[in-house]
Amino acid sequence: MCRQRITHLVCFFILWFLNHGPATPLQAAETISRAGRTAEVSNSSGSPLATLVDGQIVLENKNLRAVFSPKSGSLVSLVSKQTGWEVQRRPELGRNFRMLVPLPERRNNQVLGNEQKAPRVRLDPETRSISFTWQGLDSEHAEDLNIQFVGKVRITERHLEFKAKVSNQSGHTIETIDWPYLGEISLPPRATYFDHLRLSYCGMLKSPLYPEFKNEAGYWGADYPLQFSKHPTAPFVLADSGQQGLYMGYHDATLDRMLMFTFRMKPGYVRTDFFNSGTIPVTDKISGEPVRLELNAVHFTYLADGETQSLHPIVVQPYTGSWHRGVDCYKAWRETWSASGYDSHELPGWVRQVHSWQQIHINSPEDELQVKYRDLVQYGRDCAEHQVAAIQLTGWTLHGQDRSNPSHDVDPRLGTEKDLAWAIDQIQKLGVKVVMFNKFTWADRSSDWFRRELVKHAAKDPYGDYYVHPGYRYQTSAQHANINLRRLVPMCPASTSWRNIALAEFKKSLALGADGMLYDENQHHGSTHYCFDPSHDHRHPGHIFAGDLVLARQFHQIKQQQKPDYLIAGEGSFDLQIPYYGISYIRIPRNHVPLHRYMAPDSHIMIGIFGHNDRHLINQALMYRYIFSYEPRHYKGRLHEFPLTLDYGKRVDRLRRKYHDLLWEGEFRHTVGAKVHTSDKTFDSYSVFVDRKSGRRAVIVSNPDPGKTISVKVELPGKTRPLISATPEDPRPVASDGRSVLPALSAVVFMEQGS
Ligand SMILES: [Zn+2]
Repeated sequence: MCRQRITHLVCFFILWFLNHGPATPLQAAETISRAGRTAEVSNSSGSPLATLVDGQIVLENKNLRAVFSPKSGSLVSLVSKQTGWEVQRRPELGRNFRMLVPLPERRNNQVLGNEQKAPRVRLDPETRSISFTWQGLDSEHAEDLNIQFVGKVRITERHLEFKAKVSNQSGHTIETIDWPYLGEISLPPRATYFDHLRLSYCGMLKSPLYPEFKNEAGYWGADYPLQFSKHPTAPFVLADSGQQGLYMGYHDATLDRMLMFTFRMKPGYVRTDFFNSGTIPVTDKISGEPVRLELNAVHFTYLADGETQSLHPIVVQPYTGSWHRGVDCYKAWRETWSASGYDSHELPGWVRQVHSWQQIHINSPEDELQVKYRDLVQYGRDCAEHQVAAIQLTGWTLHGQDRSNPSHDVDPRLGTEKDLAWAIDQIQKLGVKVVMFNKFTWADRSSDWFRRELVKHAAKDPYGDYYVHPGYRYQTSAQHANINLRRLVPMCPASTSWRNIALAEFKKSLALGADGMLYDENQHHGSTHYCFDPSHDHRHPGHIFAGDLVLARQFHQIKQQQKPDYLIAGEGSFDLQIPYYGISYIRIPRNHVPLHRYMAPDSHIMIGIFGHNDRHLINQALMYRYIFSYEPRHYKGRLHEFPLTLDYGKRVDRLRRKYHDLLWEGEFRHTVGAKVHTSDKTFDSYSVFVDRKSGRRAVIVSNPDPGKTISVKVELPGKTRPLISATPEDPRPVASDGRSVLPALSAVVFMEQGS
């Protein structure tokens, strides 16, 4: 890209000191709409530039124009050049950074960036970046803290990137740093709604920002309504109006520390619906205060006195179009990850094919002892009879599911290790794969093992106590009434000693001869994020999610040595775990949005199916390329207990085997690239797959309504090939004009014909 154009502009550093006078706002012609303001931006250059304009620092590319005040280091203007949306509209609301530096008698002691002395500013046109250096900071309750904060902002071809370096000689710990701190995210022009979107359990979590705002902090816990998203579960957030939005992502794969995105609504609701939700003002001011939505990236630095730390990149980019365009910002970074786990060695062949599983529950903490090990063979016969490829054995460990964790010993009441290994072998001889349910997240607090030894390896809070997860309720009224639950204690995967225990337990499971394991609850630690135990061999405090990746790599090393075709699967893995866990098991709601499928079209996701005639769930699996995990009677039953679901599932799998080049191997595009017309203008129950080689497309449409037949018409822009259609009930291809009458809870597939 245009290096010459940059170098001919200014090829030297400019040191800029504050006494150059007050900042002046960016000049912009404007039009006012009811919901927001549109600016016309004069510079239409596509090359990223970092320049001085009228005493302001301007970073600009073809997507955005950002203006920083050299006086304060604040972002005083941010404009989406594609649409003219002034994201940061009022310069006086511009902000820069914030720090939490607890004092002995004042934990909540804030360093507010916009109340500091002027920073030293360095503009480097060649690297298209600026840096602001604040040396010596004043906090609310202590002055002149010996802290140096260097905030760096770079403009790239597409986005703004915020990094920082902080050195702490203050005698205190810098607990968190908000950087960047965007003082205003205005409503896009003509927006009728504005949502906070993020990834959660492979789906999309949506919280309204406008016209209502949902407070996720509790009104007792914050001055202003607040929403937050935590990395690594949510690697990015979108503020989305349906037509455009703003992307903010954390582009770090090390998991060195926790990162949280926050949306804060100031100065609060105009009317409350309840204590945790209300309507936001639509005026610029209320009660004399400016109405604004703030967006921050909060780095949990826990930077001790004498330490220096670099903050990993936060990327900010306005986008035009649906939320998919925002997610594309993340996808572009995701493609730069180096190969690891199953990206560097092959996933077992059977996992990559169209196939289904059954999950069976063998025992709970309340001692049903439902299936003796040797009797498991009958479930294997069921799977073979119904062409179910794999069976997941859950609750096979000592004392049943979610008791005596992390033991992966067999339960003598069910049989011996030999009995279980024999049953696994017999099931495999029927042509059915066996996957063991494993778990290394918790220890059962009620166990002697925990009290005697494992407590040493538990994650500890700042007060030296272990964290506690409430546990899970099973089967009896005493459990359902929460009287005798086995409380679960989050262990510390950042600790080598704990990982060694987990790996020893994993080896017990591996030794039984199964085809794989599914690490349940691999993706979280309850509410635990940091471990403060000084006896553990990690940084203090340690971000325990970093240990999750180390543990995953160690599982792979062991399986590569002992059984290379072994499947390591997980549950709703967070995105950085995806390379290591070949399948993510999840359960989905009726209105599920397949966000992770869009982010990672080639990942393997499996959903639990429990209903007696669960056609919509099965149709969702068809649209989103999810594997079925049949779970009759809440995974306590046998396949013949839900014949309608099983029959429809088989038909869908037969359909996607027949057209696997599109429906299984094609690239998933969600609703991008086709439109489906119905009488319902918001109809979005469809998905698009594209054959990567030929460009042929398929559109799967399903009718989610349980009582209504609908007419659909598919529109494929640029279509030159004839269309065919097929259904789960009749997979034979028939010529199609792109129209179909869809009975309740039915699906149809339209496909462009091959040459
Ligand atoms: Zn620890």
